[in-house]
Amino acid sequence: MSSPKRRWLRPILIGSLVLGVVAVVGFFTVAPGAVERSMNKTVAADLPEVSAQTRELHDSLQIADMHSDTLMWDRDILKRSSRGHMDLPRLQDGNVALQVFSSVSKSPKHQNYDSNSDQTDNIELLTVAQLQPPRTWGSLLQRSLYHAEKLEKAAADSDGQLRLVRTRADLASVLDDRAAGQNVTGALFSVEGLQNLEGNAANFDRLYDAGMRMAGFTHFFDNETAGSMHGEEKGGLTDLGRTVFAEMERRGVIVDIAHASHPAIKEMLERATRPVVASHGGVQATCDVNRNLTDDEIRGVAATGGVVGIGYWDAAVCELTPAAVVDAIEHVIKVGGLETAALGSDYDGATTVAWDTSEIAVITQELRDRGRSDDEIRAIMGGNTLRVMAEVLP
Ligand SMILES: [Zn+2]
Repeated sequence: MSSPKRRWLRPILIGSLVLGVVAVVGFFTVAPGAVERSMNKTVAADLPEVSAQTRELHDSLQIADMHSDTLMWDRDILKRSSRGHMDLPRLQDGNVALQVFSSVSKSPKHQNYDSNSDQTDNIELLTVAQLQPPRTWGSLLQRSLYHAEKLEKAAADSDGQLRLVRTRADLASVLDDRAAGQNVTGALFSVEGLQNLEGNAANFDRLYDAGMRMAGFTHFFDNETAGSMHGEEKGGLTDLGRTVFAEMERRGVIVDIAHASHPAIKEMLERATRPVVASHGGVQATCDVNRNLTDDEIRGVAATGGVVGIGYWDAAVCELTPAAVVDAIEHVIKVGGLETAALGSDYDGATTVAWDTSEIAVITQELRDRGRSDDEIRAIMGGNTLRVMAEVLP
C-alpha cells in the first residue's frame, strides 16, 4: 500500500504510463504510415485526358519500370493502399508487365544531392519503427535480405499474379502468360547501393541467392565499392567495386549506374562488356541537376546496348508533367537512339510525383501527342528494358 503522502502521485504515474504507451504504440503503428504519407506524395495536377485509342494501345504494351523503393515501407504490396505510389492492384491498373523492386539499406540524415557522409542513417530508425526483425536493425546486408524475403513472400501469396523474375526464362514465361491474357506482373529484385555487401565480396552470393539481378553501386554516400554522385569524395570504383563489377557481368546481374559519381560511371562504361542501365533519373539537357546524365554518359550507356530510365519526380525532370518526362525521353532518343529510351519512376523513393503507377497511360498519351508510332511507344514504355533483361539475366 502506498503512503497517503504519495497517493496523489498515482494518477500522475498512471497518466504518464498511459501517455507513454500511447506514444510507443503510436511510434510503432501510426508513425511508419505517417512517415510514408509525408515522404511519398502524389500532388494534384492537370493531367492530359487519355483517349480511347491511347487506352487501347496502352493496354497492349509490355511496360517495364526499372526502379521503385516500395519494399522500404511498412505496407502489404498485394493490397491497394491510399498511400505511396504503387502496389500490385495499381501496377495492374497501369498494365505494368515488369517492376523492379529496389532495396534501400541506408540513407543519411539531411540527405541532399551535393555532399553526404556515411556517418548517419535514417533507415535504422525506420527498421525499428516498423518492427522489422532485430537482425535488420544493425546490418545493411540483413536489411536487403529482409526486403528480398518480403518480395518473395508477396509473390508466394499473390495467387500467381506477382511473379519473381530471376532468369531470362522467368521473364519469357511472364511475357508469354501476359500475351495469353493472364493477369501477371513480373518482379525483379535490385539493390540501391552495394554498401549492403558490408565491405565483403562473399556477401555478393547471399544477395544473388536472394534474387538480386540488378545493382546500383552507390546511393547517397561513397561506400566500399565506389564513389557516389552525392558523396564527399565522389571517386571512381574501388578494388572491391571492380571485383563485384566483373562478378555481376559473369553471373547476369544488371549493372546500374544511377547515383554513381561521374568518374565511377566513366569507369563502369569503359569496363562494360554487357548492357548497362541508368535505372532512374533524368538528363542534364532538360533538367540541370547533378544526379542527371550528361550527353556523353547517355552515349556511353547506348554504346553498351543499355537503357536510360527516366523518372517522374521533380529532381529528375524539373517539372511534374508528362511533357517534362517525354522531353527527357526525346533527348535520350536524340543522343542515344530510340533503343536507349526507358522508364524508371522512383516511385515510393521519398519522391513527390503527379501520378501514381495506375495512371501511367498519361505518358503513353504524351508520346502519341508527340507523333511517336505505336512500335516506338512499345520500345520506350518497356520493350527496350525487357530486351536488356533478356540479354543480361542468367
Ligand atoms: Zn535513387
